[in-house]
Amino acid sequence: MTNNLQGKVALVTGASSGIGEATAVALGRAGASVVVAARRVERLAAVEARLAEEGVKVLALELDVTDEAACRAAVERTVEVFGGLDVLVNNAGVMLLGNVLGADTEDWRRMVSTNLLGVMYLTHAALPHLVERRGAIVQISSTAGRGARPTAAVYAATKFGLNAFSESLRQEVAGDGVRVVVVEPGVVETELREHITDANAKNALEDRITGMRQLQADDIAAAVLYAVTQPEHVSVNEILVRPTDQL
Ligand code: NDP
Repeated sequence: MTNNLQGKVALVTGASSGIGEATAVALGRAGASVVVAARRVERLAAVEARLAEEGVKVLALELDVTDEAACRAAVERTVEVFGGLDVLVNNAGVMLLGNVLGADTEDWRRMVSTNLLGVMYLTHAALPHLVERRGAIVQISSTAGRGARPTAAVYAATKFGLNAFSESLRQEVAGDGVRVVVVEPGVVETELREHITDANAKNALEDRITGMRQLQADDIAAAVLYAVTQPEHVSVNEILVRPTDQL
């Protein structure tokens, strides 16, 4: 266990499973106080208990990132409990793959409101605190933010949008000493794909990844940890991590 993040405070969204959970654990083990936020409170309670058992200062917050007032309240509660905010990890996301033709447009609204607006709300609420502590924002984007594939039109649009938002923000706040990090995972073995509502798209994805040695959530948590433990003058802007087997 390193103590690089001793005295730092991190807020991780979507920390009830997958990459968010692994990232919260990695940041906590590195010494940070951690706020874990998501909608499934039972899952969050388990993460909270796991971290507390390891001696990490941790707070679980129920949060739907599509609710702007709730995002603001989560940031305020973080600052109230831990005295500030150094690292915001915008990880909460949904990937509801499917063709544009015949799509259920409710899937589109869920992706845009979670993957894009949710990130924007939290960033907006957190930024004054991050400026105060010369902190960092980590955006969990995707290889789908670098290249679009069939069935990923809207998902890729949210991740391309996230990358554009982040690059503009990076330039805006560089002078304040705030670092903006975009992490772009390839295929990671998590629950993400279980929520796909289009059976054809789900099957096509399963076919594509059959036999692939997928990334694990810890592989991405390690990338986040690397980025946020660099010296203040080092800004890791973008990390793309694919499974070796992924083309
Ligand atoms: P998971 O499904 O395990 O995690 C997604 C997390 O987001 C859950 O904790 C979920 O919690 C949370 N979440 C979803 N909607 C909301 C919401 N409205 N408000 C708050 N939290 C929400 O999948 P991953 O860990 O894989 O996904 C994490 C991120 O990684 C996503 O942004 C995804 O796009 C990205 N990513 C994943 C890849 C992969 O192959 N797995 C590849 C590239 C990027 P809850 O339901 O409790 O609210």
